[in-house]
Amino acid sequence: MSDPTSPPTSPQTSPVTAPVTVPVAVSARHVHLSEHSIATLFGAGHVLRVHTWLNQPGQFAAEETVTLVGPKGSLPHVRIVGPARAEDQVEISRTDEIALGLNAPVRLSGELAHTPGIELIGPAGRLMLDHGVVLAQRHVHVSPAEAARLGLHDHQIVQAAVGSPERALVFNDVIVRVSPHYRAELHLDTDEGNAAGVQPGDQALLSVAEPGA
Ligand SMILES: [Zn+2]
Repeated sequence: MSDPTSPPTSPQTSPVTAPVTVPVAVSARHVHLSEHSIATLFGAGHVLRVHTWLNQPGQFAAEETVTLVGPKGSLPHVRIVGPARAEDQVEISRTDEIALGLNAPVRLSGELAHTPGIELIGPAGRLMLDHGVVLAQRHVHVSPAEAARLGLHDHQIVQAAVGSPERALVFNDVIVRVSPHYRAELHLDTDEGNAAGVQPGDQALLSVAEPGA
């Protein structure tokens, strides 16, 4: 007779604990602009031109660049990432902040309350933003299908092991972002990527911290 206390065996109850790999993308400093800001900086009716399509569907690095001007310094040739958005957002690294003389907080994209502003200079005009400068929180994009396959959910915090043999790093505090508009990819900024010696084509090994471990 079978032991009535033995747990039922169902393949649906086994958690996904196996580490999974995703491509790594290092995001250089860039700016997202509203239609209104594009007009101010590049001229009325200007439409952003595609320089390079990014791996996230529909997103592109534009031909257009601006100069960022902070209290202590400026950074020229900063790429616009299109298409246009509802709100202006400037994503820089901690190293860039020091060059510009700013202290922007670590934020998820779109969470722009209580962030510093900055001046932008384009070929057709200047624009003083009163907020919108952030250090991007390290994050991993996945589609809903990939999230289901990998056992991940939106806003979950995971670890990501990345980098060259000499400078390999494990990043904590990587937030999972799930959207039908996304494709599996870990996004780091240039400080993070350089610290780990990330090279084009690198993969990250994701893992989920054990509760209480
Ligand atoms: Zn991203």
